[in-house]
Amino acid sequence: MKQTIPASSLKPSSLYCVGKNYQLHAEEMQQWEPRNREHNAKQEKENEPLIFLKPPTSLSRNGTTSIPLFHGDPVSENMHYEAELIVLIGKDAENVSEQDAMTFVAGYGIGLDMTLRDVQIDAKRKGEPWLKCKGFKNSALVSDLVPAEAVPDPGVLLFELTRNGAVVQKGEAKKMLFSTPVLISYLSYIYGLQAGDLLFTGTPEGVGKVSPGDRLYAELHLENARDSGPLTTLEAFVES
Ligand code: MG
Repeated sequence: MKQTIPASSLKPSSLYCVGKNYQLHAEEMQQWEPRNREHNAKQEKENEPLIFLKPPTSLSRNGTTSIPLFHGDPVSENMHYEAELIVLIGKDAENVSEQDAMTFVAGYGIGLDMTLRDVQIDAKRKGEPWLKCKGFKNSALVSDLVPAEAVPDPGVLLFELTRNGAVVQKGEAKKMLFSTPVLISYLSYIYGLQAGDLLFTGTPEGVGKVSPGDRLYAELHLENARDSGPLTTLEAFVES
């Protein structure tokens, strides 16, 4: 069995993230999208995933996250956690079929897509990009990764997030609207993937606010193997 891939070794050119990849999270987001409620209620499954980027500088190297300051003032009053299954791309991928997609995966981890929810709501209202609400410094937290060989099928991965010891999110990768191979194939056709890129596959329901001093702890498990302990874990601390 190959060794765990340390988070400290990651050097992604791109961090691709998927929005609304779990139905119940897509529905909970409607509470912050009142103008679109009628449209959203009728919305059927999209043909293509919603993709956004975080820059490489968004990757936290010390397990901490915080709302950035500009001229001494925090740029948000509402930072949320979003726990997500992370996929590490192992080799460059262009125009890859869904059938071949899994051969491009090097490993899996658990991560946090920290989000400035108030900034995001404002951006949506104005039709502006999401870079500030999603791509700020230390907005991406990633655990050490387990080699792909340890996970025969990412559809059997489970994850759980606690905030200050209380469970706040539970995820089942099989509930993703766009599965890991579908996402890899899609990204390889539209953007082209590079070895070392990270994929944040979207968050399930239960997102919520964090405050300075909060401790976040996430585990990644194989279904039916919870007794043997987590595949990998992530600890994060919210700084002011
Ligand atoms: Mg997310």
